[in-house]
Amino acid sequence: MKECKQKLIDKGLKPTKHRCQILKIFQQTSQPLSAEDIYQHCLKSGKAINLSTVYRTLDALKNSELIRSLNFENSDRTLYELKKRHIHYLMCLSCKKMQPVDFCPLDNIEKHLSPKNFEITEHRLDIYGYCPDCKAK
Ligand SMILES: [Zn+2]
Ligand SMILES: [Zn+2]
Repeated sequence: MKECKQKLIDKGLKPTKHRCQILKIFQQTSQPLSAEDIYQHCLKSGKAINLSTVYRTLDALKNSELIRSLNFENSDRTLYELKKRHIHYLMCLSCKKMQPVDFCPLDNIEKHLSPKNFEITEHRLDIYGYCPDCKAK
């Protein structure tokens, strides 16, 4: 909890209970989460937060760049993940399951581009298709 608080303070945010709680959920999960997921998490852990507070808190965390939002082409859900984590996902078009790719296929491209003197701070790559479960259907 202490670490969460420090992160918030570093970003100039007041370390409120809800902000800490939500930031902690992100730190403990490997999947990107929607506001609804966060809400369910809180409910299950016995520390319910109402959904509008979840949205407000996510906005604050996003504005201070602790988390980022992910929008996928074929989905109207917005998902959030910790910003420092850099993961690409295989996203199933059928069941919407997301599987993290455990390496960055763009590493080499970034190295190639660096002589162009362009400072890359972020890149996006989402891979769409059908997971083994859905393919078997
Ligand atoms: Zn699937
Ligand atoms: Zn990458």
